[in-house]
Amino acid sequence: MRRSLLDILACPKCKSDLELEVLEEKEGEIISGKLICRKCNISYPIEDGIPNFLV
Ligand SMILES: [Zn+2]
Repeated sequence: MRRSLLDILACPKCKSDLELEVLEEKEGEIISGKLICRKCNISYPIEDGIPNFLV
Protein backbone atom coordinates (compact mmCIF):
# COMPACT_ATOMS: atom_id res chain seq x y z
CA MET A 1 0.00 0.00 0.00
CA ARG A 2 1.07 3.57 -0.55
CA ARG A 3 1.92 5.69 2.46
CA SER A 4 -0.65 8.28 1.31
CA LEU A 5 -3.39 5.67 1.73
CA LEU A 6 -3.04 6.19 5.46
CA ASP A 7 -4.94 9.49 5.10
CA ILE A 8 -8.09 7.71 3.98
CA LEU A 9 -7.83 4.59 6.11
CA ALA A 10 -9.58 4.47 9.46
CA CYS A 11 -10.12 1.85 12.11
CA PRO A 12 -13.10 -0.29 10.98
CA LYS A 13 -14.32 -0.50 14.59
CA CYS A 14 -14.13 3.06 15.90
CA LYS A 15 -13.30 5.07 12.74
CA SER A 16 -10.26 6.63 14.39
CA ASP A 17 -7.08 7.47 12.55
CA LEU A 18 -4.53 4.69 12.38
CA GLU A 19 -0.87 4.83 13.19
CA LEU A 20 1.56 3.26 10.74
CA GLU A 21 4.47 1.07 11.73
CA VAL A 22 6.63 0.11 8.76
CA LEU A 23 8.67 -3.07 8.69
CA GLU A 24 9.49 -3.13 4.98
CA GLU A 25 9.16 -0.34 2.42
CA LYS A 26 10.03 -0.48 -1.25
CA GLU A 27 9.78 2.36 -3.78
CA GLY A 28 7.25 4.27 -1.70
CA GLU A 29 5.08 1.24 -1.05
CA ILE A 30 4.65 -0.31 2.37
CA ILE A 31 5.25 -4.01 1.86
CA SER A 32 4.87 -5.14 5.43
CA GLY A 33 4.07 -3.50 8.71
CA LYS A 34 1.18 -2.70 10.97
CA LEU A 35 -1.70 -0.27 11.21
CA ILE A 36 -2.35 0.51 14.85
CA CYS A 37 -5.48 1.87 16.48
CA ARG A 38 -4.52 3.37 19.83
CA LYS A 39 -8.14 3.68 20.86
CA CYS A 40 -9.04 0.00 20.41
CA ASN A 41 -5.51 -1.14 21.20
CA ILE A 42 -5.59 -3.28 18.06
CA SER A 43 -3.06 -3.62 15.29
CA TYR A 44 -3.90 -4.71 11.77
CA PRO A 45 -1.14 -6.39 9.77
CA ILE A 46 0.06 -5.28 6.33
CA GLU A 47 1.23 -8.30 4.37
CA ASP A 48 2.49 -8.32 0.78
CA GLY A 49 1.46 -4.68 0.54
CA ILE A 50 -2.15 -5.29 1.54
CA PRO A 51 -3.67 -4.14 4.83
CA ASN A 52 -5.72 -6.86 6.53
CA PHE A 53 -8.65 -5.59 8.59
CA LEU A 54 -10.18 -9.02 9.08
CA VAL A 55 -8.36 -9.80 12.29
ZN1 LIG B 1 -10.27 1.60 16.66
